[in-house]
Amino acid sequence: MDNSETIKGGCLCGATRYRATGKPYKSSYCHCLYCRGVTASPIAAWLMFEGKQVEMIKGNLQKYASSPGVLRGFCPVCGTPLWWEGTWDNMDIQMVTTCSLDDPELYPPDRHAFCHNRLSWFDVDDDLPRYQHASPKGVIQ
Ligand SMILES: [Zn+2]
Ligand SMILES: [Zn+2]
Repeated sequence: MDNSETIKGGCLCGATRYRATGKPYKSSYCHCLYCRGVTASPIAAWLMFEGKQVEMIKGNLQKYASSPGVLRGFCPVCGTPLWWEGTWDNMDIQMVTTCSLDDPELYPPDRHAFCHNRLSWFDVDDDLPRYQHASPKGVIQ
């Protein structure tokens, strides 16, 4: 049985897969130092879920505490960054990288966060709201 409400994704090599049962509450680009560091990219895009809506359905992630109370997860085989878990907006939050979704077109980012860390040579020509630090808690349309 396939449920169209179910979001699935995984790493590049296929060793790790996850499933989210529920809608994300935020979809955001993040320019912060930590996302830049763990992705080695100028920007990351994340889908954020409240509570424990995301579960691994194949493999186990290697996890790294990037800051107190925050765990970031990677495929131990190919290194794809997939996962963030911790407390944010005073809630337990899970995030998955938008580009690890089987269909990254599902929930396009609708904001830029932590723009105070934006690299001078990186910009995108969009009209999305830009926040210097965290973006406000929002609901995806
Ligand atoms: Zn992998
Ligand atoms: Zn970040």
